Amino acid sequence: MSASQQTNNGLIKQVVIVGGGTAGWLAANHLANNLATNTSEGVNVTLIESPNIPTVGVGEGTVPMMRQSLQALGISETDFIRECDATFKQGIKFVDWLHNPVAGEPDYYHHIFDYPHIHDVDLTPYWLKAHQEQTQGSGLASGSGESPSTSYVDYVALQGKICDAGLAPKQITTPEYQGNTAYAYHLDAGKFSALLTRNATERLGVKHVLAEVVNVLQADNGDIISVETDTAGTVAGDLFIDCTGFSALLIGDKLNVPFIDKSDALFADHAVVMQVPYRDPQADIVSHTVSIAQTAGWIWDIGLQTRRGVGHVYSSNHTSHEQAEQTLRNYVESSSALGNRSDNVGTIKPQDINTRVIKMKVGYREKFWQNNCVALGLSQGFVEPLEATGLLVFDVTAKMLAEQFPTCRAEMPLIANLFNQRMRESWDKVIDFIKLHYCISKRDDSDFWLDNRAPKSIPDSLQERLERWRYQPPTEYDFFSGVEIFNLENYLYVLYGMRYPTASGLLSTKTNQVARADTYRQWLEQQSEQALKHLPSNRELINKIKQYGFKKL
Ligand SMILES: Cc1cc2nc3c(=O)[nH]c(=O)nc-3n(C[C@H](O)[C@H](O)[C@H](O)COP(=O)(O)OP(=O)(O)OC[C@H]3O[C@@H](n4cnc5c(N)ncnc54)[C@H](O)[C@@H]3O)c2cc1C
Repeated sequence: MSASQQTNNGLIKQVVIVGGGTAGWLAANHLANNLATNTSEGVNVTLIESPNIPTVGVGEGTVPMMRQSLQALGISETDFIRECDATFKQGIKFVDWLHNPVAGEPDYYHHIFDYPHIHDVDLTPYWLKAHQEQTQGSGLASGSGESPSTSYVDYVALQGKICDAGLAPKQITTPEYQGNTAYAYHLDAGKFSALLTRNATERLGVKHVLAEVVNVLQADNGDIISVETDTAGTVAGDLFIDCTGFSALLIGDKLNVPFIDKSDALFADHAVVMQVPYRDPQADIVSHTVSIAQTAGWIWDIGLQTRRGVGHVYSSNHTSHEQAEQTLRNYVESSSALGNRSDNVGTIKPQDINTRVIKMKVGYREKFWQNNCVALGLSQGFVEPLEATGLLVFDVTAKMLAEQFPTCRAEMPLIANLFNQRMRESWDKVIDFIKLHYCISKRDDSDFWLDNRAPKSIPDSLQERLERWRYQPPTEYDFFSGVEIFNLENYLYVLYGMRYPTASGLLSTKTNQVARADTYRQWLEQQSEQALKHLPSNRELINKIKQYGFKKL
């Protein structure tokens, strides 16, 4: 008999979260915020966190949905920026992902957060037509008079130029959580967890227990009744949330829910990470994540207020740990030469900076909700951090759980079925999107890239879409399920940033609104000029927020 049957006639009144990483505290905040924890009618939320088992401690990139979550949780944007070493992120710049770098072409594209305004006038077919005419040698741009060599992102939106200029997405007078362009954040994962902890415990009434769970007690039907801790006794609950990270103490160890390994599609299984201090404390802060492809993986470079977070994600089947670390150190030593850094890191001696290697388990649980236990965070699943998917998926899961919270035990299997179905679809879609970056690359300089491009490593669902998109560009009909974490605009930026060859067959029927397209392109040009003139740099805005704060809503 579960705790709820014993004490609450099957009502779900006690939620116990095990694990105090970002996932655990996001879950605690969303649940307490939605379930009236501070009232006698509400549901009690307890979070148990081991003082001895460290959190994974990385996770510095986010996506725009984080703004909605922070606002909904009652956290001020000014406090968040000040306390989490946070900066503004407007997308990801992918460097060297297209070709074998020896080809010598400038090789980068932006995956930005602003939409390409496809609902006003869809500029994509106009760009494709112009681009194809150029590659076929006519040199004629059609539709808008724009040079056909304009990149896709600059053709349909202005944010790529804002990123290249290192500008912020807003001004100090812009209200909290609003922006001239769509934006997310780079943040210090440890400081973010600390802010979420304070918000949950001081404002939302979450009970915080610092102790290690050493045993899990189950009822005959497999439900978890309680957990035993080393220093805080036994904690009973009606619903348990497993946020214990890769160890998956409840969902894996106790409930034996199998892990579905996805390393046949996504090969990167390790990361070596490093924190690089700025030599000049007022160094420019890049306004996007930089992701640079390597022979056996890729390197991320993220600018926070006081340091850079840099990491090499790699496949241990394609390189050694020593070589991976050396690749990272070489990059840090030379990265000022990339032209995207103003501080001279070359003098800091990267060999003196400590590194940390993290093993990554790529895949997800066969079920995310089993009996009265929900897995959230790394215990639920993980794919490499190429598109900063971790916090996004866990934030979406926590919100879904809070909004669909079961009132009683009898309701639980019904909600669990839907939850399991939706989460599995989401994970499969995330895997497709990450794989896209690798499999349409033309790189052939190592087995890592050749293996990634081999059809047998590409999920059928992605292969089918890619085949369709050879004939016509993606449309919203391709993204109909409602559970896609990455949508039409994300695919457009990556596909055409990587010059995916969609044929011209139907393009003339989709490019018959030349006057509207021209007007729209001119408007974009004007907006770009204004933005480039008036937006402050990322560093300038951060300094002002620290000094004055944003206008409150
Ligand atoms: C290399 C790498 C890069 C990443 N980059 C990004 C990124 O850019 N953007 C992004 O969104 N995400 C990223 N992520 C994912 C992100 O780090 C995680 O989503 C996030 O940290 C959540 O982790 P977690 O809370 O599930 O687990 P953890 O941080 O591992 O926390 C586990 C918690 O469980 C506790 N615990 C474990 N066992 C017990 C026990 N027996 N009793 C009590 N407590 C216990 C621990 O003390 C800890 O508090 C990255 C991940 C990796 C590995």
